[in-house]
Amino acid sequence: MDETCLFCKIIAGEISSDKVYEDETVVAFRDINPQASTHVLVVPRKHIPRIVDATEDDSALLGEVAYRAAQIARKEGVGDSFRMVVNNGADAGQSVFHVHFHILGGRRMGWPPG
Ligand code: 5GP
Ligand code: ZN
Repeated sequence: MDETCLFCKIIAGEISSDKVYEDETVVAFRDINPQASTHVLVVPRKHIPRIVDATEDDSALLGEVAYRAAQIARKEGVGDSFRMVVNNGADAGQSVFHVHFHILGGRRMGWPPG
């Protein structure tokens, strides 16, 4: 755990959140500022700041987070149409430096993203 990390504190239960899923590897909770009717953040318990900081040893973990994110999208009822997003770095829109997969669904998505 990184003591300064917001998502580590959410994972530890030190900051409350609306959790939709958790197991020994992955935690998922609703975004506090949702950008779609379904907006869930899916994170590994392990603190990895950006996806680019992951090592080869983390590759199975990242696969598990992506797999779980898709299953959560299905459970949320948006399995047929959703956007899975990972922002890497401040200029790409990352504001919390603990790897997270956004699941956005329930509205039509534009492309290219802003
Ligand atoms: P990023 O911009 O890093 O890709 O995504 C971070 C996300 O975390 C944002 O969508 C933001 O709304 C969300 N967020 C920030 N603080 C909190 C919080 O305290 N609780 C929850 N549930 N989400 C948060
Ligand atoms: Zn963290």
